[in-house]
Amino acid sequence: MTIHRPEVREFSPTFESALVAAQSSVGAPRAASGVPGTKSARVPAELLRFGNGKIPKDALSSIGIGQHRLSTRAAVAFRSLHAAAAAEGINFGVTDSYRDYDSQVDLAKRKGLYSEGGLAARPGTSDHGWGLAVDLDLDAKALAWMRANAGKFGFVEDVPRESWHWTFHS
Ligand SMILES: [Zn+2]
Repeated sequence: MTIHRPEVREFSPTFESALVAAQSSVGAPRAASGVPGTKSARVPAELLRFGNGKIPKDALSSIGIGQHRLSTRAAVAFRSLHAAAAAEGINFGVTDSYRDYDSQVDLAKRKGLYSEGGLAARPGTSDHGWGLAVDLDLDAKALAWMRANAGKFGFVEDVPRESWHWTFHS
């Protein structure tokens, strides 16, 4: 069954304008190329109106592990990914998922900005703030499984130096 959902045509000019507006509304600078968290992840159209890190709990979906939540399509894909891994004897935990704006500010203070050699996205630009990224507790075997298989579920290892950080791209 095909569900017709015109609002998720992500790369329409309207979407691009909305994305720029959403980024401006939280005081974030335009995405500079190469800045993690802003380059190519697709922000769900239904979440744009809330803004990065400002998404109410009800607008996100459980990923079936602890209290972790992601945007709905990412959550559904992640549940499939995690089940597929488990079916092959690969188990791993989740250390972070959706991250609200205040937590992004806190993380940037503690870990430093990625653009300055640290590990945090500029607050208001993190893919965690759109419910699109997860941080995983991966051992070598699980990391190898992710690198071989995560793409089938839409998850991409898209930040150099952060092999725990996986972003939903489709
Ligand atoms: Zn992360």
